[in-house]
Amino acid sequence: MKIIAVGRNYTEHIAELDHAVPDEPVIFLKPDTALLKNNGAFYLPGFSQEIHHEIEVVLRICKEGKHVPEKFAGNYVDAVGLGIDFTARDLQQRLKKQGLPWERAKAFDHSAPVSPLRPIQSLDEVASLDFHLTLNGRIVQQGNTRQMLFPPARLISYISTFITLRKGDLLFTGTPSGVGRVAIGDRLEGYLDGSKLLDFNIK
Ligand code: MG
Repeated sequence: MKIIAVGRNYTEHIAELDHAVPDEPVIFLKPDTALLKNNGAFYLPGFSQEIHHEIEVVLRICKEGKHVPEKFAGNYVDAVGLGIDFTARDLQQRLKKQGLPWERAKAFDHSAPVSPLRPIQSLDEVASLDFHLTLNGRIVQQGNTRQMLFPPARLISYISTFITLRKGDLLFTGTPSGVGRVAIGDRLEGYLDGSKLLDFNIK
């Protein structure tokens, strides 16, 4: 499986990082070794002094798809949950400045904690979901899926033009504003539609 992630999909987050609003989705990949499941602890890597949390709604792909039309995109998704797109922001800024790819800053081991996923029948069920992240009990990020610049059907159609989607792939759909640094001892809790799905510690 692979993880396909979308950058710059919430306007306020684009503003906080001082980026231009994209006219097409910004996508990147994380390998299967980035996955961190079962609310396992995240160990801060030694190569960054600035690991940022980015809470994101995650969709699970349930069948192979290429050139998927938007109107059929719902057939390719069977579950929703939450993930953290951990980002080595200091490294990412250096790579961006040099015009280099982001992998070292985005695709490192365990950079993608994913919650248990809950089944859905239709993309309509994810059209307007509240979600938020708390850091040591304080809300640091909150959003609603209707605020996405490019909604799920558009993302699935767009991505599948370039990259074949396969059963079990995970789609990270972008983060709202409020990204920030995590430190050893922190506790992150992620809520989707009122239910706590993520709860793990930084070590
Ligand atoms: Mg992200």
